[in-house]
Amino acid sequence: MINLSIAEAHKGLKEKKFSATELAKAYLKRIKETDGNLHSYVTVTEDVALKQAAEADKKGKFENPLAGIPMNLKDVVCTAGIKTTACSKILENFVPPYNAHVYDRLREAGAVLLGKSNTDEFTMGSSSENSYFGATKNPWDFTCVAGGSSGGPAASVAADQACFSIGTDTGGSIRQPASLCSCVGLKVTYGRVPREGVIPYASSFDTIGPLTKTVEDAALVLQAIAGKSERDATTPNVPVPDYTKFLKNDLKGMKIGVPKEFFEQGVEKETADAVMGGIEVMKKLGAIVEEVSLPLTKYAIPVYYLLVKSEASTNLARYDGIKYGHTAGGAKDLEEIYIKSRQEGFGPEVKRAIMLGTYCLSAGYFDAFYLKAAKVRALIKKEYEEAFKKVDVLVTPTSPFPAFKIGEKTEDPLAMYMADILTVPINLAGVCGMSVPAGFSPAGLPIGMQLIADQFKEENLFHAGHAFQQATEWHKKKPSF
Ligand code: GLN
Repeated sequence: MINLSIAEAHKGLKEKKFSATELAKAYLKRIKETDGNLHSYVTVTEDVALKQAAEADKKGKFENPLAGIPMNLKDVVCTAGIKTTACSKILENFVPPYNAHVYDRLREAGAVLLGKSNTDEFTMGSSSENSYFGATKNPWDFTCVAGGSSGGPAASVAADQACFSIGTDTGGSIRQPASLCSCVGLKVTYGRVPREGVIPYASSFDTIGPLTKTVEDAALVLQAIAGKSERDATTPNVPVPDYTKFLKNDLKGMKIGVPKEFFEQGVEKETADAVMGGIEVMKKLGAIVEEVSLPLTKYAIPVYYLLVKSEASTNLARYDGIKYGHTAGGAKDLEEIYIKSRQEGFGPEVKRAIMLGTYCLSAGYFDAFYLKAAKVRALIKKEYEEAFKKVDVLVTPTSPFPAFKIGEKTEDPLAMYMADILTVPINLAGVCGMSVPAGFSPAGLPIGMQLIADQFKEENLFHAGHAFQQATEWHKKKPSF
């Protein structure tokens, strides 16, 4: 039963083929058997899972599609009474006093918490190697990375250690690991899902979304977590449509744009070929395909990293060794507590963010770096507005290459940053995107296809992605271990 999608498990629960407790137990067993190798989880909440599953069984109706469905949360989503570490030493023993709003919404729907999943420290990274607790492995090849920063969420879903997961995407952290591990990863429009109670990286970029086994499941999870929140002023009052209405089997009349720049940025041939194959499938389903141009794509990486590291440097100021988490011993005065705690508590990528961000924001450099980058961001946004006047969905590869070897890029931060070249423009533009499985490399590693739609048009992603999955089998392939 652990290989079932949400929709299938929901049917099983409703028809009393199995109970929520049996389902939770099956997943907990799978985690025990496999997580020594994979390391998707940093905390397993067995007691919580069994209690929540028993509640779902007691209610017995399973009206909501998420009722009794086992999931995990990336370890930046605050959970009252359960450790939430951002996979950083500085928050190693932090237990939040409240739930993130997204977790409250999932609980209202009846979802069951299996545990907290691994991430790059403070979600900064593209491989999950920056986790203080050690990297998550790729379920298709243990010598390769799972991608990042939501490596734990992606690997756990691909390896049937959870029915779905919740991750965060600031510059690609849901889509890129979904592509590398072979699952569906949805990055929503900025503001579609409340961020309250989720430890921030860069507040004007951060989004929260599901990693699932199918596109249909992504629609079911978004239905439960989307919409205006009194607890988050950045969630606008845009109505949430019934997403299941858009899960159609054909693409008749849908206009698809293929931005040529997304096939030039160091994209490997096998990846480009797989995505082109996907586009052919969509054509056969009735889509009208045209080439489009997004010439500012080449500036996306420097613009993105200047802006997110600036925002991160201010967000990280709260970790002073006193309010939360790790406090260094042996300090002589207050200033030394700050300095030593931060020195000991943060890893190298987070320190890099603080250095680069503080530099960009400092008097004398602000105009040349931060302000300039903010202006280019506005131009990139415009470019997408123009593109979406012509087409409904853009189709590109998600990552320029399949999973790379553990350790291959850790010494070269710039090479690591290039892994996000095809995902960061979408966050700069504030629109939505989704990675769906679209093939395998000759070495047997998954390749993802990215669908991109305009702000608050997630339904277009579901329409295109679901029809694609009805016509293909890529999402049904499983790693064999
Ligand atoms: N790798 C990118 C970064 O480090 C994206 C991370 C993310 O989306 N959280 O900024």
